[in-house]
Amino acid sequence: MRATALAQGARRRRTARQAILSAAGIWLLLGGLFGILAGAGLTTIGLPALLLTASAGVALAVLQWLSLPLLARRGSAEVWKLMRTTVPWSHALVGMALIWLDHLSLASLYGITAGLPALLAYYGLSNGFGSTLLFGVSIMGVIELLRRLAAPEYLQPAYPAFVLLWLASVATMAIVNGRALAQKRQILQLYRQQREQNALIREKNSVLDRQGWELIAMNQRLQQISLVDGLTELANRRHFDEVLLREWSRAVRGWRRGSHGDRSPTLVLLMLDIDQFKHYNDRFGHQAGDLCLQTVAAAIGGSLQRRTDLAARYGGEEFAVLLPDSGLAGAQRVAMEILASVRVATRRNVQLPEPVTVSIGITRCLGPQDSRQALIERADRALYAAKAAGRNRLQLAPEPTPAIASGKS
Ligand code: GH3
Ligand code: MG
Ligand code: MG
Repeated sequence: MRATALAQGARRRRTARQAILSAAGIWLLLGGLFGILAGAGLTTIGLPALLLTASAGVALAVLQWLSLPLLARRGSAEVWKLMRTTVPWSHALVGMALIWLDHLSLASLYGITAGLPALLAYYGLSNGFGSTLLFGVSIMGVIELLRRLAAPEYLQPAYPAFVLLWLASVATMAIVNGRALAQKRQILQLYRQQREQNALIREKNSVLDRQGWELIAMNQRLQQISLVDGLTELANRRHFDEVLLREWSRAVRGWRRGSHGDRSPTLVLLMLDIDQFKHYNDRFGHQAGDLCLQTVAAAIGGSLQRRTDLAARYGGEEFAVLLPDSGLAGAQRVAMEILASVRVATRRNVQLPEPVTVSIGITRCLGPQDSRQALIERADRALYAAKAAGRNRLQLAPEPTPAIASGKS
């Protein structure tokens, strides 16, 4: 908004400067023209009067030029208003003085009245048809008044021809100005339309932007939903499979680089199953069963310490926990923590009719020859060993001999 006002101010000052310059130019031309006319005896004006009026016109233009910076301090709209009124009318007054000093000779009348609309033609680009005509007609009126008052007998023979010529020149300029103004209005209208369209495009872009962000957020949410188990809010089986694959490859790369010694950290898997859960469901109903599953899941998730550890619902009331970069000792500590917190959490939850316990089978990645399937089978077997040993406990899977484990024969 402010930038537009500044640009408009600069444009107006430039126009005012051009107007003043053209006024000065016209006065110099008039001076030359009258000098020639006087030499040819076609005008009654004397040299002192000619010099006086022509230099008064130029001096006026110089004064207006010099006053521009001072006026500009008052704001461009005011300067514009002042210039639009003072420049043409002040020069018109000097022109009338010239006509008066020339005793209303035909030459001076024509010269001045043709010169003034020429000055106005410049203004006309801003004022258009109507005001150019009005200005020309008012000058004509003043001249007519002067003629009647001062020298009614003068100009009689050539007067109609002069009036016709004069009117033709004013009308031509008015038409030119009117057309220029119409074009200017058209350009302005196009400019306005363009601005409106730009605003519309900006608005549409911002809507598109917003929708884009919403889509991204929705995608993220969908991705999250596709990885999370709806009931327990732990990772689902799909997510577990993905993380197992990733961590398995990482562990095997570690083995291949030789960074794993026999007792070094590796990938550890815990398989968990709620004890006697069928019985629990049968006695208390599936709603209590679901709530129990949620409580157990929260207890398992809350027992994990590292950001890289993953607890997942493996299926039904079975859970899996992946502990990357862990040793069996650490995994056993985590399992003990889970056993305790499941007992405590299901006892403390007043909405649950009875506490439950879990059994846990533990195994680890044994080396490059090992496989994910074998890892899960070992954990499962250990889990069932824990069940067989009386439930509510953990069981480490037995490991093959070191030679087999490291893949050496
Ligand atoms: P065990 O100690 O040997 O594991 O005995 P169990 O009764 O828990 O035996 P099992 O693991 O085979 O029991 C699975 C039961 O878990 C069957 C079903 O009633 C229950 N179950 C599985 N998924 C859901 C579930 O999403 N919601 C509910 N409420 N119960 C489930
Ligand atoms: Mg089961
Ligand atoms: Mg069970």
